[in-house]
Parts: sequence; C-alpha cells; structure tokens
Amino acid sequence: MNKLLETPIEYLKGVGPARGELLRKELGIHTYSDLLNLFPNRYIDRTRYYNINELVASNSEVQVIGKIIHIKSAGDKQKSRLVATFTDETGEMELVWFRGQKWIRDNLKLNQPYVIFGKATPFGGTFSMAHPEMEPLAEHQASLRSAMQPIYPSTEKLTQKGISNKVISKIMQQLFIETQARFAETLPPSLIQELQLISKNVALFNIHFPKSQEWLAKAQFRLKFEELFFIQLQLITKNIIRKHKIKGLPFTQVGQYFNAFYQNHLPFELTGAQKRVIKEIRNDMGQPAQMNRLLQGDVGSGKTIVALMSMLLALDNGFQACLMAPTEILATQHYSGLSELAKPLGINIRLLTGSTKTPDRKIIYRELESGELHIIIGTHALLEDKVQFRNLGLAIIDEQHRFGVEQRSRLWRKNDIPPHVLVMTATPIPRTLAMSLYGDLDISVIDELPPGRKPIKTVHRYDSNRLMVWKFLKEEIAKGRQVYIVYPLIQESETLDYKDLMDGYESISRDFPLPQYSVSIVHGKMKPADKDAEMARFAAGKTNIMVATTVIEVGVNVPNASVMVIESAERFGLSQLHQLRGRVGRGADQSYCILMTGHKLGNDTKTRLDTMCRTNDGFEIAEVDLKLRGPGDIMGTQQSGVLNLQIADLVKDRDILQLARHHAVNILKDDTAMAKPEHAAMRNAYLEITRKKNIWNYIS
Ligand code: ADP
Ligand code: MG
Repeated sequence: MNKLLETPIEYLKGVGPARGELLRKELGIHTYSDLLNLFPNRYIDRTRYYNINELVASNSEVQVIGKIIHIKSAGDKQKSRLVATFTDETGEMELVWFRGQKWIRDNLKLNQPYVIFGKATPFGGTFSMAHPEMEPLAEHQASLRSAMQPIYPSTEKLTQKGISNKVISKIMQQLFIETQARFAETLPPSLIQELQLISKNVALFNIHFPKSQEWLAKAQFRLKFEELFFIQLQLITKNIIRKHKIKGLPFTQVGQYFNAFYQNHLPFELTGAQKRVIKEIRNDMGQPAQMNRLLQGDVGSGKTIVALMSMLLALDNGFQACLMAPTEILATQHYSGLSELAKPLGINIRLLTGSTKTPDRKIIYRELESGELHIIIGTHALLEDKVQFRNLGLAIIDEQHRFGVEQRSRLWRKNDIPPHVLVMTATPIPRTLAMSLYGDLDISVIDELPPGRKPIKTVHRYDSNRLMVWKFLKEEIAKGRQVYIVYPLIQESETLDYKDLMDGYESISRDFPLPQYSVSIVHGKMKPADKDAEMARFAAGKTNIMVATTVIEVGVNVPNASVMVIESAERFGLSQLHQLRGRVGRGADQSYCILMTGHKLGNDTKTRLDTMCRTNDGFEIAEVDLKLRGPGDIMGTQQSGVLNLQIADLVKDRDILQLARHHAVNILKDDTAMAKPEHAAMRNAYLEITRKKNIWNYIS
C-alpha cells in the first residue's frame, strides 16, 4: 500500500510529465501521497441552485440552471469580449468571456440547458458572470458529484496552464480509483474508539469528496487531530531521548558559591515563583542528562537572579557558565547587573561583545581555556571559534527567539558532554504555541512579580489631547520622576520614521525648555558611545525625558522612570507595546503608560489598545496577540519559528492540540518505543513522517 502511494505523480492517469512537472513546482506534489494530502482550502455547496431572480450582490459563487438564447461579440478589437444572454424561467442575465472566445463560440450550444457556476456581479440592472464554469445539464446530473465541492490550493501558473480546480478534482478522483481508496490506518484502535474518530479511509474520502457537512466536520476533526498528534509524538519523543540518551553533567553539589550567596548576599527575598523555578532548574541539572529548559517570565519578573543562582550551581561543581544576549546593550546590562550581585563572592566575570578590544579578548580567550574565568557574558561573539571553554557546564540564552536553532546547537557543540541549556524569554508565549514550538523543552514560568509593584496604569489618548498629556508629564517631573517618550522606528533605515522622531524631539525640547527641563535622545543612528553616554545621563537622573526609538525596548533599567509615552501606538504590535511598557513600573512609585494615537483606528488597533489598557498580564496579552496575528507573527516574524501545518490551525484548533498532546503523552508513557503490537500502525506512520519531515522542517 505504502509503495503505491510513493509512485511519482506523473504516472497517475490524467497527469503525465508536463502536468507532473507543474504540480511538483507549484504545489510541491511529487507523489500520490502528496496529492492525497493536498487538502482543500474551502468547500462550495453545490447542492443549491439559484433562480436568476434570487441573485443578490455577494462575494460567493452560485450555480444557475438555464439556457443561452443569444451570443454576440462586443467591444473593439483590443478589448473585445463575448457576451451571451442566459435565461431561466425567472429572468435574464449576462455571461461574459474575454479569453478563448472562438472556442466558446464553436462549442457552446444555444437553447440547451446548462449549469453555470461562478460569481454573479450586478451590472447595469442585471447580473453578469465572467468566465463561468459551464456544464451541460445532462452531464452535470450524470457525473458523480459530492454535495460539497472542494476548492484546492492553487497558483496563478497552474490556472494559466489549465490545471483548474476541476482538473485537480478529476485527478483526485483518479487517485482514489487507482488506490481503490484504501489507505492504511495510522492511529491505534484504542484511540479511535475512545475519541470516536472516523477511520483514516473514511476521513480521506470525506475531506476530498464530502458526503455532507457533517461528514466533512468528522473528517476534518480526525485529520487535524492526527496531524497534531504526530507532531506531539515527535516532540515528546525528542524530549525523552534527550533525557535518556544525551548525557549531561550531573551537578551533584550545592556548594560554597550557591550557599554563601543564598545565605548572606541575597539582596531581597525571592518570590515563590523564583524559588520554584530555581528548584526545577536545580533538579534538572542534578541529573546525568542534559537540561533543556525554557524560562518564561514577564519583564521585571526577576529572571536575572535565577540566572545567577543557576550559574553558581555550575561553579560549585567546578564548571564554567556563560550567558548570551541578543544585543550589546542587553549583554552589557546583564554584565553590570550580575557582577553587582556576585561582587561579594569573588567570582571572575567578564564581558565579550563585538566591541571588546583585542587585548581584552586575548585575556578572555586565555582565561576561558585555563578555567580562571568562571562566567562569561556576551553577544554572538561567544559563538566564535576562538572562544574555547575549559569546561562549560551551563549555557544561558536570553531572548532566545532571536537566535536560531542552529546557533543554539553551536553552543552545545563546544563540549564532548553538552552543557545544560537554559533559555530565558520575556516574551510570554501562549501555552498552545509553547507546546507546539518548544514541546521538546521543559518549561518553567515565573508567574509572579516581586512584591510591592504597583500595576502600571495604562491609558489611551488621542494626539488632540496632547496638551493635557504634556501637563501631566510636567506634574510627574515636578515630583522627581522621569519620562520615556518612544517613537516607532520599525526599520532604522526608514527616513520618514527618523524625521518623525527628530521633529518630535524638537517640539518636545520646545515644550520642555531648558533650564527647567532637560531632554535626552537615543536612536540607532547614534554612535554606540554617544548612545551609552546619553543613556547613562538619563539613568543617573541628569535628564528628565528620554526621547527614544525602540532601542530601549530591551535592557534599559531605570527604576525612577515612571511614565512611558508611546507615540503612534497604532503602529506597534501588542507584544512590543507590552515590552515597552515594561520599562516603567520598576520602582516603588505609581507608573503610567500613555498610548498616543491619531483618530482613525482600525478594529484590530482598537483591540490592541483596549487590551493594553485592560491588563498588565503578559500571558493574556500574548493570547490576544496570537488571535489577532496568528502564530506566524507572534514572536516577531522573521526570527520566530512558524509551524507549517497541513490542515490544523494553532489558533482555532488549540483544543484539538491539547487533546493530541494529552494522548501522545499517555501513549508514550506506557510505550516509549511504540513497540506494542497495537501501536505498530502508529509507529509505521511515525517513522514515515519523521523520515519526511523532521520536526525542524515544520519550523521554517
Ligand atoms: P527580568 O530580567 O525578568 O525582566 P530582572 O531580573 O531585571 O527582571 O528584575 C527586575 C527588577 O526586580 C530588578 O531591579 C531586580 O533587582 C528586582 N527583583 C527581582 N526579584 C526580586 C524580588 N524577589 N524581590 C524584589 N525585587 C526583585
Ligand atoms: Mg532581564
């Protein structure tokens, strides 16, 4: 059976080499199996026939039974068209062709009943249908036609070359004939029974030739479940293999560094969530298997100290640790924060970034190799070949979605036994997505903010209210607070954005004049040194207002800054707004976030603004973001992985995903190797899928 499905597509009757080539190029269909898994995008109900007097202006396609009573050419040579008058008992309409006029004239018969199908658009008092699909009524009635007509994915090229939806439907029928519509079951019988799923056979038949809405729904459910189930099997299996097979460095000691820090140098009491997460990490690293853990915690939730304490465990066991951040600013900030915390411990910590000078680099390389250097913090520079550790025990990666999977594995390759890996992210990832994207990682969540934080008050104001907003800023500044005003600068190269920023800066400097006020500005076109100096001035409280682009999104920590004004807030995505807001609310004072926009706002924008005003909860915001944007964009498009799913939808089908994960976990718990006889079919399907699509291929 499987063999037959691997047959190259051109051997299917009705395909041949030319069409085969097109199907391969345009839709990636190489084999019978690929065609079988080309699922329709949508379905059209062809059980319903309209009378001409029932037509209304709408976007959907309709079918009408009638006759052509008259046909003529119209227009001049360049813009000639063929126009036919089509009637039924209730009225008349027009059919129009621009292409293939001769063929139509020669082949269409007057006064014969046809079924026409297409989009009817109102035109000069009647309706008009351009390039309708046409079929003589007798043929239409004779052809085995399912109630719901599937519409398959297509491309312009395919349509141009005559591979219409009708043609695809035809070759799909041929496929079912040649294979006798017998497809191997892939799910275990117990699962099919428990979930009352329809069989693979019936599901495939009904996804391509649905008998009714009801059967279509059953088919979709079964196939979505199956798709998500096998992804979960892969992720969970990977996780199990890692725990069993990938050796890790067991950190058995909780020693000098950890204890000394915990007992004498903690700057504050840890939150319950921090304690729980540290315990989870400690437990993982105590095993002789590699840790691969994702640490999620909203901005300000206190991930830094968790990172430090994890590194201290590595040190206690005689290993080195590193922390890699996506930007120089962030790496520098981590460096100063961690060195400050670790100062009383007498640890050797250094910073390595692109701008580290050669003599310093040499020292770092040498000390890393000799083992004198305990902790190195840096950017991508840590991945260079010259960086050789004596014994790296723990690699912490901050804001991981900015690093590719490939880079992650490069860090691993620096040892014989790979170091434990802790990935930290402040971008809350909705559970659904985390489950599908990082299902092979273990997840820890800091879901509690340090005590005493007042929730940030967020409001939306129109540009026309600016005077009021400025007045408010002056009041806050009078109380000794500091203010951020952020401009969108999506791409640092966008000159228009840059002009907005500079205009904004000029008018703010006018409205907040010296000597009473002083205003800083920071943007991506400044030299790093100037940028740092300006940041430092603001951090030291020497300026009242920081006008900036999103460069301050990550990193900056100025507890005295309590107001965040976001200009053109409609241009930011939800998660970015939330990240920006996280720059305030770091001190004891009440903090505010003011979202400035123009008056014209779309529905999605309104939802984003309302969500920001309603909640401070990063996970809730991430959920809304996922709904608004779909999984593709959720973590800042380019860098993030997107699951390339055939039929399931991560947003709409999250319940099915949950169900699939639950059952995948259960099955593997009892039968990790899928070796039980009742799991044979599932195992075969699993091997087939993993051979074709390694999980990372789902992630583009
Ligand atoms: P994150 O990296 O998760 O955004 P940080 O680790 O930078 O957060 O912590 C944010 C701020 O909260 C820092 O100023 C830190 O000193 C403080 N902080 C962290 N944990 C606690 C705690 N348990 N109690 C009080 N303050 C804390
Ligand atoms: Mg941080």
